[in-house]
Amino acid sequence: MHYPESSFEDRMSTVDFRVGERAHIEVDSDICRSCTTKACVTACPANLFVPTGDGGILFNYEQCFECGTCYLLCDKEGAITWTYPDGGDGVAFRKG
Ligand code: SF4
Ligand code: SF4
Repeated sequence: MHYPESSFEDRMSTVDFRVGERAHIEVDSDICRSCTTKACVTACPANLFVPTGDGGILFNYEQCFECGTCYLLCDKEGAITWTYPDGGDGVAFRKG
């Protein structure tokens, strides 16, 4: 089956978020301070990684797509701690 290309904005409009109270991804800003690439900042499709003035990262988990890109890209052990959202929370793709 062929799915047509869709823009990020199109996809955003089909996504509902049920925000869990517990962050399912945690970023250790202290570790990020020694990271020279900050690859997550440009790689995250939802722009959830924001560089802070002290060289760290401010992370907002609430609109995460759970795409896993940040976790794959980050090569600093322990900087990103990933768990799945609590049951029922997180990203949900609407049908139609
Ligand atoms: S999350 Fe990983 S890639 Fe992003 S700034 Fe921190 S150490 Fe670097
Ligand atoms: S899993 Fe994807 S959307 Fe969520 S923070 Fe990482 S890169 Fe961004």
